[in-house]
Amino acid sequence: MEAYTEIREAVAKLCAGFPGSYWRALDRDMAYPTEFVNALTEGGYLSVLIPEAYGGSGLPLSAAAAILEEVQRAGCNGGACHAQMYTMGTLLRHGSDAQKAEYLPAIAEGRLRLQAFEVTEPTSGTDTGSLKTTARREGDHYVVNGQKIWTSRAEHSDLMLLLARTTPRTEGMKRTDGLSVLLIDMRAAKGNGLTIRPIRTMMNHATTEVFFDDLRVPAENLIGEEGRGFRYILSGMNAERILIAAECVGDAKWFIDKAKAYASERSVFGRPIGANQGVQFPIAQAYANMRAAELMVREALTLYEGGANPGAEANMAKMLAADASFEAANACIQTHGGFGFAEEYDVERKFRETRLYQVAPISTNLILAYLSEHVLGLPRSY
Ligand SMILES: Cc1cc2nc3c(=O)[nH]c(=O)nc-3n(C[C@H](O)[C@H](O)[C@H](O)COP(=O)(O)OP(=O)(O)OC[C@H]3O[C@@H](n4cnc5c(N)ncnc54)[C@H](O)[C@@H]3O)c2cc1C
Repeated sequence: MEAYTEIREAVAKLCAGFPGSYWRALDRDMAYPTEFVNALTEGGYLSVLIPEAYGGSGLPLSAAAAILEEVQRAGCNGGACHAQMYTMGTLLRHGSDAQKAEYLPAIAEGRLRLQAFEVTEPTSGTDTGSLKTTARREGDHYVVNGQKIWTSRAEHSDLMLLLARTTPRTEGMKRTDGLSVLLIDMRAAKGNGLTIRPIRTMMNHATTEVFFDDLRVPAENLIGEEGRGFRYILSGMNAERILIAAECVGDAKWFIDKAKAYASERSVFGRPIGANQGVQFPIAQAYANMRAAELMVREALTLYEGGANPGAEANMAKMLAADASFEAANACIQTHGGFGFAEEYDVERKFRETRLYQVAPISTNLILAYLSEHVLGLPRSY
């Protein structure tokens, strides 16, 4: 039985107010789903992980997973706001009491948005240790210079978390040491050393590139200790992977339901196409794979909530769920024949949206490399 039945039903009801026509119109204009994100915020869904003492609901990660799964299952796109759930964990776990008191209640109330985080750079890609953006301490400020890419939702967020190099890399130094996390208030920074440029992508994802030119950030906005930022970002990655996996399970369920319905109602050669094994088997296979991925998501959640560090399970959940959703997307488009490519069925839009999760926030290859090295004990391949 699925957990959080009431939350799931409430999210499904909210999502019913944002049908395919809403998403198609946004998709055409590459516009941000402001009304949808506002509705989720007002419903308190984006602050479920914030402790009650700071105005949130203090629920565990599995509640956030249930919410995001339902969003995707309803045909909506949580990519517009999912980062608020896992980015906020860095502030929660590593921020000072003063930072938490300043930002968390405002985020919980929906007055502040923490939707953007910046790790990826154009030249370093997955190799985070070689990122080049610097934050140089000058008195009571850091001065930030460099460039980030794929900073999603930057135009629709008030705050962003930045990973930058505060200590130059020297011989013998661990490549991931000397990186720090800064919380940037973009309202003050825009036009004062921070420039954001949107990137048009195959799906509507509100992603951007961000340029820093002597941006001054108050030193009090450093999260945790200087030089330990990579560890702080890493500690949030399990949550991020598990939540993205839950979204992919939701996507897979949407594709399977859609394919099932169409296969039952579309008649060719005098009978429903779903009566043909060639049509029904790919849908059945997608269902089996979705269920297996769902079990791995649950395993990762159980371990995470038990206080373990489920790097392997979070990675496997993300990989298996992303594969399951893309396989279900493929079966769904095939089941729809030509209509799978028509905008009004929403299948092609969801197909484009779920394709992302083979690459972001971590690509399948890097997950396989992690499992090879850390679980199977094979030599490090990179
Ligand atoms: C729409 C979108 C939104 C995003 N949002 C954000 C965001 O909000 N914040 C953020 O920081 N980042 C974000 N990202 C970045 C995303 O996390 C990266 O694109 C992803 O981690 C891959 O990095 P890369 O694009 O630099 O690829 P690269 O690192 O250049 O890799 C390219 C390809 O080579 C493969 N590869 C690289 N090295 C190896 C190796 N050693 N072994 C085997 N294969 C390898 C990879 O698997 C990949 O398929 C987003 C990306 C996209 C497309």
